[in-house]
Amino acid sequence: APVVPVFIRDSNIDALGAATKWRFGEGIAAFQTTLEGMGQRLILRSGDPETVLCALVDELDAQGVHWARSYDPVIQNGDKGVKAALKDRGVMAQSHMGHLLFEPWTVQNKAGGFFKVFTPMWKTLRSAELSAALPAPANILAPETWPASESLIDWTLGRAMNRGADVLAKYARVGEQNALDRLHAFLAGPAATYGTDRDLPSVDATSKLSENLTYGEISPRLCWHAGWSAAHQGVEQAEIFVKEVVWREFAYHLLHHTPTITTQNWKPDWDKFPWGDGVNDPHVLAWKQGRTGVPFVDAAMREMYVTGTMHNRGRMIVASYLTKHLMTHWRVGQAWFDDCLTDWDPASNAMGWQWAAGSGPDAAPYFRIFNPVTQLDKFDKGHTYPKTWIAEYGSGSGAKAKGFFAAVPRSWKVSEHSPYPAPIVSMADGRARALKAYENRGF
Ligand code: FAD
Repeated sequence: APVVPVFIRDSNIDALGAATKWRFGEGIAAFQTTLEGMGQRLILRSGDPETVLCALVDELDAQGVHWARSYDPVIQNGDKGVKAALKDRGVMAQSHMGHLLFEPWTVQNKAGGFFKVFTPMWKTLRSAELSAALPAPANILAPETWPASESLIDWTLGRAMNRGADVLAKYARVGEQNALDRLHAFLAGPAATYGTDRDLPSVDATSKLSENLTYGEISPRLCWHAGWSAAHQGVEQAEIFVKEVVWREFAYHLLHHTPTITTQNWKPDWDKFPWGDGVNDPHVLAWKQGRTGVPFVDAAMREMYVTGTMHNRGRMIVASYLTKHLMTHWRVGQAWFDDCLTDWDPASNAMGWQWAAGSGPDAAPYFRIFNPVTQLDKFDKGHTYPKTWIAEYGSGSGAKAKGFFAAVPRSWKVSEHSPYPAPIVSMADGRARALKAYENRGF
């Protein structure tokens, strides 16, 4: 039967952060190109998915509607309404798995509940059977006449990015083919030393597939099989890559079973903790602008502003610094990441922030306060990372450091010729204040 591919821009798309929404648009454009190469089209419509789909089904006299299942609780709720409305019309409505490796309700710990700690989940899933990903269809039958479509350009999904979009575009690797190329290049090269080098922010040692996984441009199932296949062929550290993909899975299973993880402390005791809300706080502004005077923190924040992603160690450091040295609520950092990341993922982002803050499942204990100065010496001995990203750090200004000044709003009034600031909070004072609050926490 003919197939009409459709993408609906609903209120969830409109609510996305600036960089995420821009990157979404790039992904849609790449998908349109792929479909057009097959004699197909991607029909774009805006509005409430239930209303839009029912109208389109009537227009086309469609027999069935199929879509990739989402695990974002907000979208899931909407999907239930869509399914019911289509079924009421006598139309087959079928969601399919693709975004995850295993359905969250099928993976259980020994007590029959869901995993709240990663390691036992990994031990359970490590040897699980998983069928291979299906190949993409070579041909898809097109309809004789196409329904009307809106134009992607008119959606202006990159509007909130202003001049930052041109900078981000240099780093984004958009679309399925780029994702596949990246996976294969990673497994043929950096994967050999992934286990040791993945912690070094100035080394290009990780897959950088998070943005493609976010937008469904590559499936975790494909990563799982390619990773295991490399490991069995002698690239032993490729197993650690598979394990990281299962961390993503862990985040989604947590999100499925505790949807409030994106908005509330997973451990409710933390509701009593005196975190600041970041409003009108000059220290939080300095954190966002990469001007705390702490090189590891500033380099990571600028890397995110320029590339739309941040090295995992950088994420751990800036999240710890915000929630501990600056005693600010993790939701403030989460919201900033929502706006700036092109690999923004509701599950991994919320889990990452609650892990760093100490309020989440399987979290780093609050009293474990990363020292960004000693962490830099440990993971980046030559300080290549801050030299790459911070022009004022005394390293001259390469394209990456300059990219920051080209991307940020002019209203920030930052310049590569300004002196690099002294630390806004001393490591010792920030640590002492956080530990004191922790001792007095009353739970
Ligand atoms: P690789 O090291 O090559 O790992 C392969 C894949 O495994 C990644 O693409 C990712 O899908 C998954 N993965 C790796 N590490 C983690 C992890 N710690 N948690 C969950 N999945 C992981 N990841 C996102 O994809 N989106 C986010 O919005 C996000 N926000 C984060 C916020 C904080 C505060 C922290 C501490 C971590 C966050 N992460 C997030 C997890 C992690 O930092 C990124 O997935 C990783 O840096 C992506 O780089 P990569 O693709 O090169 O990863």
